[in-house]
This record gives sequence, structure tokens and C-alpha cells, in this order.
Amino acid sequence: MPSKEPDADDSAVLPERGAGGASRAKSEASTKDDRSFVFEQIRERLLFYGSLTSLGFSRETEVEAPKQKPAPAAPARNETLEEIRADLGECTRCRLSEKRTTIVFGVGNPKAELMFIGEGPGHEEDRQGLPFVGAAGQLLTKIIQAIDLTREQVYIANVVKCRPPNNREPEPDEVEACRPFLDRQIDAVRPKVICALGRVSALNLLRTDEGITRLRGRIFSYRGCKLVPTYHPAFLLRNPGKKRECWDDMKLIRRLLQGAES
Ligand code: SF4
Repeated sequence: MPSKEPDADDSAVLPERGAGGASRAKSEASTKDDRSFVFEQIRERLLFYGSLTSLGFSRETEVEAPKQKPAPAAPARNETLEEIRADLGECTRCRLSEKRTTIVFGVGNPKAELMFIGEGPGHEEDRQGLPFVGAAGQLLTKIIQAIDLTREQVYIANVVKCRPPNNREPEPDEVEACRPFLDRQIDAVRPKVICALGRVSALNLLRTDEGITRLRGRIFSYRGCKLVPTYHPAFLLRNPGKKRECWDDMKLIRRLLQGAES
């Protein structure tokens, strides 16, 4: 696989070089400052690559995602997550209620700037009533930590709140039955960025039939939030070679959170 030392956005952070004469005219102090700055950049880059290695990511070229139109203003926040959960009750609005053990409503910071939305609860999530607590959840935790956040700082939910039998994909009518509650959660949290985890989440949120390979790494809009699809952690466990692209998506999300990308 190709490798590349600097990321695509290095030009924005490395000091500019003047034309020959101008560079030579720099003072010794200025040269020292420049060297310190470059050394600091190299140090940060080494730390960055170290985090990739610990996650199993390979060192590859960063890919800039195409931009979408600016997201429209978010709806006014007028209810709390607790109120939405109370309204959901012991929901029987779709057939997924028949085999579930526990409703997996969502977890995390009610004022999170970043919200992850997965497909639906698995066996362990159904048992514990929490999203992303199995092996895929552990990888998601590492992915979150790789952009210098914690699980407690983000909010995590799924497009359906009850486990589909035998881990099948949720049916469209099941997603639509659950969607109003997810939308209300998004409106309550009002994150800056939503990360749609996996094909089922992305295609249901965006109402598209495009594959995740084409959707990932692009910026969409959903309920006034920027939405970036990436691979589902369970898919990454089966296809570790795709972690590089996930890492590219997470760097894009980090830039969106920092306001460095729009
Ligand atoms: Fe209700 Fe959603 Fe569970 Fe269906 S998946 S029963 S709509 S909570």
C-alpha cells in the first residue's frame, strides 16, 4: 500500500518557506523558531502514527472528503432525553419488540458534540441494555479515543432500539417505526457531527441505496447536523484493512468538530 509522510493538510500547519533571498535574510532567532516548530510537528506526527499502530491502522495517505452544502439550522431543543425515553415506554410499535430482552435507548453525553449511530443492538447490547458493549464496542471506544474523546463525551445510539432476531438487518418498516424517537434524540442532543456507523445506518438515515464504500468520508446533512458515514466497527473487525479509511473519516470528523472544515 502506498505511504506518505505528511498528511494532505500539512501545508496548513507547516511554516511557509520564502523565495531563496528572503529565506536567507531570516534572522538566526527566526530560524530557530522555525526549527522548533518543525520538530514539534514531527513529534506530533510520530505520536499520531503511534496511535494508528495501536489501533491496527496502517500509515497511509489522508483523503480529503468532498464537501456538501452547509447544514440547515438545527431545530430548537424542546425536550430532554429522559422525556423521550419516558414517551418510548415499553415500546411495541414494531415486531422487534417480540424477541428483545431490553430496549437499547442510547447512552452518553446529552450535550455531546459528536453522536454515533449504529445499526441495532446485538446479543450483548440486548442483554445489557447499552449500545456497543461487545467486541465492536471496544473497537469503537478506541476509535473515539483516537480523536482525543471519551465515550462519556459522545452520544451513542442505533437506528433501531431492539435487537433484530438472529442479528438480521432491520426491515425498512422497523426503522421507520423507530425513526421518530431517534430523530427526537438527535434534536435533543443537537450534536455538531453525526457519525453513521455502517451501511445500514447510513442508507437509512440518508434514504439512499448507495453503498457505504461510496458514502464514507463524505459530509452530508441530517436534521441540521453534519453527518459523516464510516464503516461499522464490526465490519472493521472482519476487514482490518479498511481501518485506514475509517481513520481518514475520523480525522475529517475531528476537523469538523474543531471548525477547521465545513
Ligand atoms: Fe419500538 Fe423501536 Fe423497539 Fe420497534 S425497534 S419496538 S419502534 S423501540
